Amino acid sequence: MAVLPIRIIGDPVLHSPASPVEEITDDVRTLVADMFETMDTAPGVGLAAPQVGVPLRIYTYSYTDDDDQPWRGVLINPVLWMVPLEPGEPDPELESEGCLSFPGERFALRRSDRVHVTATDLDGLPVSIDVDGWRARIMQHEFDHLDGILYVDRLSDGDWKTVQKITRKRGWGRPGASWMPGVDDFEG
Ligand code: ZN
Repeated sequence: MAVLPIRIIGDPVLHSPASPVEEITDDVRTLVADMFETMDTAPGVGLAAPQVGVPLRIYTYSYTDDDDQPWRGVLINPVLWMVPLEPGEPDPELESEGCLSFPGERFALRRSDRVHVTATDLDGLPVSIDVDGWRARIMQHEFDHLDGILYVDRLSDGDWKTVQKITRKRGWGRPGASWMPGVDDFEG
């Protein structure tokens, strides 16, 4: 297994839709093992294949809630349904999220509170997930990556201007920008 560099906003692979996985090959299994290691090292609660430069519809997730129940997995070719968003402004305390591809920052974003996801696992078997709250947020965030959408693309105009300012200041927003978990000092 290997820790992979994580692409940063501006790299084209993050801003284009990923392709379905046609077959679960040894390459796919190696990629997923590396994604778990990269996600855990970052550390992050989720990682999509485009974030490590691979334009395939795969993401991993790992979240431990207050009662220490670990929730981890990998989803291949996921399909996501969500209940409509509650209207209103997001609460910065409770609804802020971050992204390993826009590292070190957090912004408030309203997300659907409940999702249903179907996918296949690494053995090609069907998976069905119904989750709410933070888990539903993780699913929406990672699923967006497969469609070439970063959470910062969904922010209000004011926050989007801040995102652009940070991007310029750090020299991001160009092809090939990346950081290395365990080496560079960032967290998503
Ligand atoms: Zn992300």
